[in-house]
Amino acid sequence: MKKEIRKVLVVNSGSSSLKYQLFDMKSETRLAKGLVERIGCGGPKDHAEALKNVVAQLGDAAKGIDAIGHRVLHGGEVFTDSALMNKANMAKAKKLVKFGPLHMPANLGGIEACEKIFKGVPNVGVFDTAFHIATMPDCAGMYAIDPKFYKKYGIRKYGFHGTSHKFITQAAAKFLKKPLSKVNLVTCHLGNGSSLAAIKGGKVIDTTMGLTPLAGLVMGTRCGNIDPAAVLSIMEAEHLTPHEADTLLNKKSGLLALTGSSDCRDICAKAAKGDRHAELALEMLAYRVALYLGGYNTVIGGADAIVLTGGIGENSTEVRERILKRLGALGIKVDKKANAKRGETIVISTKDSKIPVVVIPTNEELMIARDTVRVLG
Ligand code: AMP
Repeated sequence: MKKEIRKVLVVNSGSSSLKYQLFDMKSETRLAKGLVERIGCGGPKDHAEALKNVVAQLGDAAKGIDAIGHRVLHGGEVFTDSALMNKANMAKAKKLVKFGPLHMPANLGGIEACEKIFKGVPNVGVFDTAFHIATMPDCAGMYAIDPKFYKKYGIRKYGFHGTSHKFITQAAAKFLKKPLSKVNLVTCHLGNGSSLAAIKGGKVIDTTMGLTPLAGLVMGTRCGNIDPAAVLSIMEAEHLTPHEADTLLNKKSGLLALTGSSDCRDICAKAAKGDRHAELALEMLAYRVALYLGGYNTVIGGADAIVLTGGIGENSTEVRERILKRLGALGIKVDKKANAKRGETIVISTKDSKIPVVVIPTNEELMIARDTVRVLG
């Protein structure tokens, strides 16, 4: 008889930090959460040592862990679902490091460290790309360039935030009392990094991020969509290397470049005081969300609901209102009283709106824990 998977540790292993949460999956309650920082730069020397700190922090709670779920950035086209990270799958995942040279070594290093510290406990990889890549059709996922680049280098759309989009898709189906296989949604994860996904019959058919998380919406420090020729022009004029251009577009663009801050709260405060740069940045953000939203509503054949989540989606009354004001053509009107609320599942569109707009707090860690149980079950 298979052992019941009840106590699940969720690990998000980054290049210099390791976040964890411990769940009791019978009741889906969180038993503990914590963070180990400065790995390899003053704190623990590596991820194995960081995990020893986790065990110390957990104390007695570290006993009897049945399984460990890991957040992994990129599953390429190999991982279309979460997977047990046995030897064969680790070898496959290591071949995908090229898609995330910063995050992947840390993600996989976290798995290897767990193999050492939690001997005999199974490790499950939950890939940020899997929910998208599993079902996205080629017409949405391929780029209009010579197919040899796809064949040689895997250049195509993968999408990210998949774990969050999956969590809110399942939660929205439940909220709407519809079977998952019948639910059409546009899911919007709006945080420091942001993406939209078009969900038809519970499955992704398009998403705004691409080969990397740089594509799509205006984000905290990322530019989102831009004419590729604009990038080439800047590189030529400023003599930038590909690495420098990557840093410029990923770390020094978006809201930060437009306003001097990447934090939505600061920008809303500045806009309220009449700062025109902050005002423009918020309008650019809202405009682009509305633009994709309209397109996605079309390609899924009409949404049953629009779902908002992430730091901005869950909390920013102001940004939500700016987005909803642009959705009149979809028959959506903002309910100002409901939109003033936070931190729960709330419908922020008026009752007579044609499509309800629902705020659902995301829980990527719980989704990872659920997938871990499912994969091992
Ligand atoms: P995340 O990456 O999901 O943690 O989201 C971070 C973003 O959420 C930042 O731009 C924050 O300014 C924004 N955010 C968090 N809390 C609030 C809030 N209470 N009001 C407005 N924006 C918020």
